[in-house]
Amino acid sequence: MSGLARRWLAVVFAAAVSAACGSSPAPSAPTSSGATPLATPTVFRQVAQKINAANNEFQLAWVGTAASYQLVIGSTPGSSNILPPTVVPGTTYTWISPRTGGTYYARVAAKSGDSLSGYSDELSLFVLDIRNVIDAMYFHAGPMADSPANANSNPVTAVWADGTRLSVLVSNEAGSTALANAQTFTGQYADLIGGAVTAAFSMTSDAMHDKDYRTFPDFTIGVRVQPGYCGGALACVPTGSGPAPIGPNKSMVTLEQGSGLYLSATAHEMGHAYGMGHITIPAAGRPEFRFMMSPVNASEQMTDAEKLAIMLARNAGLRAGWTRSQALAADLVNPYTGNTSIR
Ligand SMILES: [Zn+2]
Repeated sequence: MSGLARRWLAVVFAAAVSAACGSSPAPSAPTSSGATPLATPTVFRQVAQKINAANNEFQLAWVGTAASYQLVIGSTPGSSNILPPTVVPGTTYTWISPRTGGTYYARVAAKSGDSLSGYSDELSLFVLDIRNVIDAMYFHAGPMADSPANANSNPVTAVWADGTRLSVLVSNEAGSTALANAQTFTGQYADLIGGAVTAAFSMTSDAMHDKDYRTFPDFTIGVRVQPGYCGGALACVPTGSGPAPIGPNKSMVTLEQGSGLYLSATAHEMGHAYGMGHITIPAAGRPEFRFMMSPVNASEQMTDAEKLAIMLARNAGLRAGWTRSQALAADLVNPYTGNTSIR
């Protein structure tokens, strides 16, 4: 079993080099045979991230000339408790993360036989737990919400009830792009929940300036332009509007007029009119985290993660009036810990 012993020694040696050098690239370790030391991999990076129901899928890549590499991932800097030393034949690796959200730490070294180079710079990988997205969208609660501590009050969710046929009135002033953006959102939402909630659209010559949305018939959403209405935001819906039991089953999307109309915010505001709360993006700011319901750096339409959150919530039985406790029992959200560093 001398082969095992040699592998063990190589790992210990690499760990010692890494610890001595902190997060800087470690010098290559000399080989026992005196051959040219292996070059430490460079440009270790995250190429893409897919958010799944039970994990995240990371595409990792690096630059190097070795025939194989050794990758480690830990839950703390410098550790390898999540992915013990794993041999990789090329310069890419797909890592399937644990379900638990938070930051993980990856390093890679070149490997040839029993020889190992120093480890690369450490790469921080942010794992997003989709349950925190569901919590923010449906309950305005949990670590990714505007007000995480809402979770303590066991809030209810407000989504349109099954069978709702919405009437969306778009002013001519808001125009055809606002119409198209709102239609894309409502169409995608309907598809995600098997057509249980749909919307019919009409353009209107009524600019709806100063219109009180509470005078609309039930299940009506207006889309209008009204400069100065949103208090500095690009667009808005009235607080407390939208579906029951929070809102009066009606709402109004208002677009502000700046250098142009803020049309790209139309679907985000429609999301609010459908009862969705903001999703606070992680500090890492990966493109995969540019959610439609992010108040900053938003995507113009729903992202794959938001669509997944809606499907998961729907399939677990979430409906209008569900409490957060019900969602917790259905494993749709996490117990509230007060920890907002995991976003
Ligand atoms: Zn918003």
